[in-house]
Parts: sequence; C-alpha cells; structure tokens
Amino acid sequence: MERYSRITNKNQREIVLLKAKPCAWGKCRFCDYIDDNSENIPEMIRLNREVLSNVTGEFGVLEVIDSASCFELPEETLWDIKKVIQKCGIKKLFFESHWMYRRRLDEMREYFGIPIVYKIGVETFDNDFRENYLNKHADFKEPEEVAAYFDSPCLMVGIKGQTREMIARDIKILKNNFKLGTINVYTDNTTDVKKDPELIQWFAKEYGWLVEDPAVEVLFENTDFGVGD
Ligand code: SF4
Repeated sequence: MERYSRITNKNQREIVLLKAKPCAWGKCRFCDYIDDNSENIPEMIRLNREVLSNVTGEFGVLEVIDSASCFELPEETLWDIKKVIQKCGIKKLFFESHWMYRRRLDEMREYFGIPIVYKIGVETFDNDFRENYLNKHADFKEPEEVAAYFDSPCLMVGIKGQTREMIARDIKILKNNFKLGTINVYTDNTTDVKKDPELIQWFAKEYGWLVEDPAVEVLFENTDFGVGD
C-alpha cells in the first residue's frame, strides 16, 4: 500500500494516506476502504509517523487523508502532523471530513494554526440517491449548506443507477458553488454498488474538458493521487 505521494499537476502538494480509528459512520453502501481503519492505536501512531517522515515541504502544501474523517486520526498523530508542519514549513493543509463534523472544522484550524482546505465526500447532490441508495448520512438539502462549511466536495460518477442528468447537475453545482472539487470515477470494489461502464464512457467524452480545469481533479482510478492500492 502506497501511503506517500506528490501531486505535481494541479494544486501541487504532498499527500499522505494515514491510518485512523474506525469511521464514526461506517455505513456508506459503496465503502470498503474502512477496512484500513484500526483499533490498534500504538501501531497506527508508529505507522503514521513513518509515513509522515517522507514529507519534505517542497510545495508548502500537505494533504492528509485517511479512510475516515480527519477527526478519527489518533491525537498523537495530530501532534505529529503539527510537528511536520513546523519542521517543513507547510503553509496549507488539505483535510477531509464527513458532514457530521461540520461544526467542528474550526477546531483543527485553531490547532494547526494554518489555513485548511476541507474536502467532503458529497458523492452526489441528488439527495435521494445519496441518502437512500448510497446511505451517506449527510442530510443537507441544498449545495449552499455544504458550501457554508466545506471548500471542496468530492463527487462520484459512473454508478449504476445514476443518470446523465444527475451527473450534469452535480458538475454544474460544483462549478457554481465551490472553488475546488474532486470527481472520482467509480470503480467496482467488494460492495454491491457497481459501476456503469456506459455512463463512465459518456462522462469521459462529455466532460473531458474537466481534465484541463485547474480547479477540478478527476480521478479515473482510486490510486490516481499515487496513494492507496
Ligand atoms: S463516511 Fe467515508 S469512510 Fe465512512 S463509511 Fe462513508 S465513505 Fe466510508
């Protein structure tokens, strides 16, 4: 499993995939990456420390992800991230959090003392598909509610059951309401949520221009950021 990488095209930054405690929700229908969660705190701290030792600060920007929210990282790991920020001159952090922690985002900003770009797994702004099929447990109704807390939504495209209209609306919302965003093209995993190859083909053709958009990162594979397996 790769846990350190450098993103050198858009929004240049280093990225680390750390281990975290179990996701507090843990019930999204499409998610099997919570398998990377752990309850072995000392082992997690050790591994995270090792991964963080790769950070050089060459871009002054660091993204920290884990298979849960940043709030599920062990306290000692947060402290280790803080030390890396100071040692390597990191000026900006990217973090990811579930909707349920929306009122706690500033806690991390205060703790680290540098700007944090918050990503959120929205998957889709279609409330019915997100809540009743994907079981995301993010009960906002309007994109503006998300934009009030988060900087950068992550969308998923190409799931069986999604429609072209849903995707087109999601991308329009992303471009109109947010400065940054990520689009994950869905790939099959161990869950019963399946990809729709025809829809993915349509998306790649219709939205090929997004690859050139500096504000949107399109991941055709989960490992396109260079971390994961
Ligand atoms: S919130 Fe994220 S980590 Fe937790 S179950 Fe959902 S997709 Fe998986």
